[in-house]
Amino acid sequence: MLIIKTNAELNKIITYHKKNGRVGFAPTMGALHKGHVSLIEESKKNCSFTVCSIFVNPTQFNDPKDLEKYPRPIEKDIDILEASGCNLLFLPDVAEIYPEGTENKKKFNFGQMDKVMEGFFRPGHFDGMAQVVDRLLEIVQPDMLFMGQKDFQQLTIVRAMLKLTNRPVKLVMCPTLREKDGLAMSSRNVRLVPELRTKADILYKTLKWAKFQAPQGDLGGISKEAMKRIGLTGFKPEYFEFVDGYTLNSVNDIKNSNFIVACLACWVGEVRLIDNLIIKEPKD
Ligand code: AMP
Repeated sequence: MLIIKTNAELNKIITYHKKNGRVGFAPTMGALHKGHVSLIEESKKNCSFTVCSIFVNPTQFNDPKDLEKYPRPIEKDIDILEASGCNLLFLPDVAEIYPEGTENKKKFNFGQMDKVMEGFFRPGHFDGMAQVVDRLLEIVQPDMLFMGQKDFQQLTIVRAMLKLTNRPVKLVMCPTLREKDGLAMSSRNVRLVPELRTKADILYKTLKWAKFQAPQGDLGGISKEAMKRIGLTGFKPEYFEFVDGYTLNSVNDIKNSNFIVACLACWVGEVRLIDNLIIKEPKD
């Protein structure tokens, strides 16, 4: 696997591989786990050359403590990527991504999409996320972009951004990989203290419970009950919402949308986790 740190070097390699095939790209912030590897695997199925980036983007952290505590096990990550068959790791530093500094954010208008859920509880997060994904796409120039359903709101906003920027990239949503007990794999899970980790399966259990309840209607009532169930474990849920999978608008009744996703965020001790489950699949 090639490890490349500069745009100039990367550009030469990508130009060659785009001429000779299709380039797939999976952007990450490192601390890799099997969920990330599944994106690489999906890319390898669809593309002749797979690029993964590791860049802990400072502009998407609204909480400086979260940025500081974000795990950075780079040697282990390189081993995981080597084993996955990834062709190139792009490992830029901040100056390579933001040569003019981190302040001049390119702003996109996502309407309500980036104001709800994560956007509400992590103000500015999606500005930073869109800024870095747009910049990485400008540098890597992939044909296909692989992102996880795990960060459903992020993926939906990136889809909107690709429309706004007219970038010729095909976005592929990869399913969420979970631990045996159902907890969604996340780089943050290593920070969970053991006694809370054993109870963290409540998040997925509650999502499944909500999916089972949903056909009976009153999604608002189910959300409230879900918050209560999660709260009973001592965790602090921030939201549990049923949203339209395209617009992220809140949905009150299962009949009111043909693509519904239940999304949650919850503090498990000092660690903030998110998860989601598709409640109603789009037919197309
Ligand atoms: P991150 O490094 O957390 O920013 O994630 C990088 C990419 O991996 C994003 O597209 C995530 O949605 C995806 N991802 C994170 N966790 C999982 C998971 N458990 N299953 C599948 N994809 C994931």
